[in-house]
Amino acid sequence: MTTALLGVGVSGSRPVAIGRAYLFGREPTVVSEEIERDRIDAEVQRLDEALECAQQHLESVRRQIPDSTPVHIAEFIDAHLMMLTDSALVDATKALIRERSINASWALQIQRDTLIEVFDAMGDAYLRTRRDDVDHVVRQIQMFLSGEPSAQSLSVSDLKDRVIVADDLTPADTILLRHRGIGAFVIEHGGPMSHTAILARSLDIPAIMGVHNATHLLRQDELLLVNAESGTVLAGADEGILAHYRQRLVSADQRRHRLRELVQEPSTSRDGVPVVLLANLELPEDVDTVRSSGASGVGLYRTEFLYMNRIGLPDEEEHLATYLEVVRGLDGIPLTIRTLDLGMDKQVDGLTGAAANLTNPALGLRAIRLCLREPALFVPQLRAILRASAHGPVRLMLPMISSIAEVETVLGMIAETRRTLRRQGLPFDPLMPVGAMIEVPAAALCAGGIAKRVDFLSIGTNDLIQYTLAIDRVDDTVNYLYEPLHPAVLRLIRITLMRAAESRTRVSMCGEMAGDPRYTSVLLGLGLREMSMQPTSLLEVKEMVRNCDVGRVSTRMEQLLDRLDDLSPTQILDAVNEVVND
Ligand code: PEP
Ligand code: MG
Repeated sequence: MTTALLGVGVSGSRPVAIGRAYLFGREPTVVSEEIERDRIDAEVQRLDEALECAQQHLESVRRQIPDSTPVHIAEFIDAHLMMLTDSALVDATKALIRERSINASWALQIQRDTLIEVFDAMGDAYLRTRRDDVDHVVRQIQMFLSGEPSAQSLSVSDLKDRVIVADDLTPADTILLRHRGIGAFVIEHGGPMSHTAILARSLDIPAIMGVHNATHLLRQDELLLVNAESGTVLAGADEGILAHYRQRLVSADQRRHRLRELVQEPSTSRDGVPVVLLANLELPEDVDTVRSSGASGVGLYRTEFLYMNRIGLPDEEEHLATYLEVVRGLDGIPLTIRTLDLGMDKQVDGLTGAAANLTNPALGLRAIRLCLREPALFVPQLRAILRASAHGPVRLMLPMISSIAEVETVLGMIAETRRTLRRQGLPFDPLMPVGAMIEVPAAALCAGGIAKRVDFLSIGTNDLIQYTLAIDRVDDTVNYLYEPLHPAVLRLIRITLMRAAESRTRVSMCGEMAGDPRYTSVLLGLGLREMSMQPTSLLEVKEMVRNCDVGRVSTRMEQLLDRLDDLSPTQILDAVNEVVND
């Protein structure tokens, strides 16, 4: 019998996948049990065996890390390996087993709670990061004690073509799972704009988000058919359906092949309007993908991933080294570095504890707000971006701007940083452009004032949609409300473009909407001429640009703008596509 599960699909150039399920449970089962005294030695032995397995597992992970992976990921694993022999964890747990006659898993949990309490009480941000390492390592050992597959498992050499089924993956987990040839993700929680979904798209791995109960309804190793276009996962499909999917895989392959021919072609509309297509970059090692996509630059480099899966925070020199690696890799095409946007779902161990504990992290101490509150975190990054600008075309972009006063405060800090660098004799480009992201409705409505103060704007539709429609990006129960063509969203984009045009300020768009070819004509019709997206979507968008008559879609959009409230998203698309296909 075929089982069909439904979620929200996310895909780049690979809309379908066929693969066997690999189930990840995030939390190990901790059974609390008192044991007979004569079982104590055996229980201690069981703990030793679990420690041994955890060690072998981490060592194998370490061996498999690709050379291109940033060095701090290996350090992160080394620190965990050291913890497996640390007496504060191991000896203390064994003492608990012996003194209280309890099973290993329970003793480990008690010792974990004690250590976490100590770390939580520490004022120092660096030391607080160790708290999460304890948690991580204890979970690993408990997984081996309970015999369950490890949620954090990285050593799984046979992940190739597997469909990872998990209740949730953090952006940090997703990074660790890259380059393992994974076929698809099926995730119970999160929406299409969550950072996990964005990473999946950047890896060109189809993902279905918000598939409730997937980890209970799907079985380990069963063959799954994943269709990210329709958001469906099929289990137990018959040969006929399987053959249909195999054919889809072949057609997708052929289409990717055909699109490659557009790499060298200009990104110009049918009526000769040039449209700048840029790429979004998550990790420095993806620079080659950016280059081969034919992007004319990077419109969004998300630097927060520099802070994940590591011990401690990057300092100015590490920032600089990373940016220079990207600048050199891009070989002269411009790089837009976004200052860090931590908070919400992109938590960094120990650092954003205050933001993480709030009820509404998306409305809390996130992105520029966190940076302004913690100059010790922000200034090293500002200095590194400015210093990188001496080596190639670099632009600096500020996330989550919500008022003009905020822009002015940051511009003041940048001016001060420039003065300090000059005093220290460190080179930078004095004309390095500084831009603001428009991702809060307040910023879109004040876009004119912001545009006058900066060199460029970039519309972050992922957040703009989240905040305009009041839908949490990571809450799958409200995924159904996500609608880029909502009249309120289209009006805010239009206002931003019109107001910025008054001061001749360039506007780009770097949210996922920009990389979705279904919306290209609408965006061109609204007046957008610069888009930044996952490299995997770039050629499809280019194809749309080249097919589009910008003059005609602009006239059509103009007619539609007054009637938006009365049109469904499909009617808007149909009305615009009518003139495209004419
Ligand atoms: C956005 O909000 O659209 C954006 C590009 O930023 P992020 O997805 O990183 O929040
Ligand atoms: Mg954003």
